[in-house]
Amino acid sequence: MSLAQNTLSELRRIAGPEKVLTEKEDLIPYSFDGTAALQQMPGCVILATTLEQVSAILKLANENKTAVVTRGSGTGLSGGSLPSPDCIILCLVKMDRILELDRANLSMMVEAGVTTLQVADAAAAAGLFYPPDPGSMKISTIGGNVAENSGGLRGLKYGVTRNFVMGMEVVLPNGEVLWTGNKCVKDVAGYSLKDLFIGSEGTLGVITKVLLRLIPKPSSKKTMVATFAQMDHAAQTVSDIIAAQIIPCTLEFLDRTTIHCVEDYAKVGLPLDCEALLLMETDGHPAAVADEAAKMEELARKNGALQVRVAKDETEATNLAAARRGAFSALARVAPTTILEDATVPRSELAKMIRFVAAVAQKPRLRIGTFGHMGDGNLHPTFLTDERNKEEMHRVEEAFKEIFDEAIRLGGTITGEHGIGLAKKSFLPKFAGDAQMRVMRELRRALDPNGILNPGKMFD
Ligand SMILES: Cc1cc2nc3c(=O)[nH]c(=O)nc-3n(C[C@H](O)[C@H](O)[C@H](O)COP(=O)(O)OP(=O)(O)OC[C@H]3O[C@@H](n4cnc5c(N)ncnc54)[C@H](O)[C@@H]3O)c2cc1C
Repeated sequence: MSLAQNTLSELRRIAGPEKVLTEKEDLIPYSFDGTAALQQMPGCVILATTLEQVSAILKLANENKTAVVTRGSGTGLSGGSLPSPDCIILCLVKMDRILELDRANLSMMVEAGVTTLQVADAAAAAGLFYPPDPGSMKISTIGGNVAENSGGLRGLKYGVTRNFVMGMEVVLPNGEVLWTGNKCVKDVAGYSLKDLFIGSEGTLGVITKVLLRLIPKPSSKKTMVATFAQMDHAAQTVSDIIAAQIIPCTLEFLDRTTIHCVEDYAKVGLPLDCEALLLMETDGHPAAVADEAAKMEELARKNGALQVRVAKDETEATNLAAARRGAFSALARVAPTTILEDATVPRSELAKMIRFVAAVAQKPRLRIGTFGHMGDGNLHPTFLTDERNKEEMHRVEEAFKEIFDEAIRLGGTITGEHGIGLAKKSFLPKFAGDAQMRVMRELRRALDPNGILNPGKMFD
C-alpha cells in the first residue's frame, strides 16, 4: 500500500510540489540511516522549509492517521529515522537558519536543520563556545542532536546536548505549536517540558527551533596522546585522573584494531605498537591547563605509558581529535557491515567492562574494534561483520546481548548517547522496568493519541 493520491496532492499544496519526493531513486537515500542492516522505503519525503508547513503536514497526517518520521541528516545509530512502511519522511535539513546570537544572554536561536558544526562555528566567530561535539557534527542537525540528547568528545567536562538547551519550539502531532523554555537562567514555572522532548527520538513532537546556551570560550587548551601496552593500564590512568579531581574536556580511547584502522584511514602518525591509546585534552585558564596536563602525563607514565606525546600546535591537536572522530568511519571501511554500540557503565566499573568486552571479542570468528568516551564510561564496541552472513549476524547479536547484560549488571545503561530507536527496543523493557515503561507509554499516548509520530520506535 502506498500513500493515497489525495494525501500526496494535499502535501504538495502545503509544501510546494518540488519539496515532495516520491520517485524511487529520490526515496532510496532516505530509506536508511547510520544504523547497519536496517532499510525501509518511505511513502514520500517532504523537505519542509517553514514552521507553518510542519504544522499543516502534521495536522493532515493526524487527521488521516498517516505515520510521520522526522528526519535530520539521518546519521542516527539506533534506526530512529528509519521510515515506517509508506510513511511521510518529514526532513528538516532545509530549515537551516541561525536566527539570533544573543551575546548579552549567551544564547543562540537556530532552526532545527542547522548542523552542529554551523552552531559551533557561529559561536566561535563571536568568541563564544558551544561544547557538544558528536563525532558526526559536520553533518548532524541540532534537531537530531536534541531528539537523541547526543553526547560528544567533550561530554566529560561540559555535559551533553541537554545541558545546552534553554528552550525550543515543538509542533505537536495535531499540528499545535508549543514553546517551552526561555532565555532565563532560572525558570521553574510548571513541568520542564523541554526536558521531556530532549531525547524523545521523534516520538512526541517535531522540534522546529532550538534556543541554545553558549559559554565563554576557554582561553587555552592542551592535547596529548598516551599509548599503553595493555588496555587495563589506560583504564587505570582514566580512573586515576578522575580520582585526582581532574576533569579534562576529553578522555577518549581507541583499542589496537581501531588505532590501526584510523591510522590507515587518516594517516596522522598514530603510534601503532600499542594495545590502547588515550586522547587527553584539557582546556581553561593557561595556568590550570599547564598544571592539569602535567598531572595527567605523570599519571599516564605511572601506569606504564609507552609514550606520551603533547600536540605541538593547534593543527596537530585538531588532527588528533579528527582522527578520533573518524574512528567509526575508519572501522566501517574494513568490513561490509559495521555495527556500533554504546554500552555505558559508571566510571568505577569501566576497567571491568572493558575487560568483559575484550573477552567477548576473543570469541572465535568475531571481530570487534572498541573505542569511545572512556572518561564518561561510554564504550563503543564495534562489530566488523557482514549482514549477508546470517550465522555470523546471529553470533554478533548474542555477543551484544552479553555486553548489554553485563553493562546492566554493573549498574550501567544500554545506551549512553545513541538512543533506543529500533535497534535497542527489545532491551528497553528489561532495563527500564514496568513502572517506567508504563509512564513512558502513557506520556506518548497523551501527546500522540493516534500514534502517528515515529511508530514502532522505542516501544510498540
Ligand atoms: C560517524 C558518526 C559519528 C557519531 N558520533 C556520535 C557521537 O559522538 N555522539 C552521539 O551522541 N552520537 C553520535 N552519532 C549518532 C548521530 O550522529 C546522532 O544521534 C545525531 O544527533 C543524529 O542527528 P541527525 O540530524 O543525523 O538525526 P537523524 O539521524 O536524522 O534522526 C535521529 C532521531 O532524531 C529524530 N529527529 C531528528 N530531527 C528531529 C526534529 N527536528 N524533531 C524531532 N525529532 C527529530 C529522528 O526521528 C530520529 O529518531 C554518530 C553517528 C555517526 C554516523
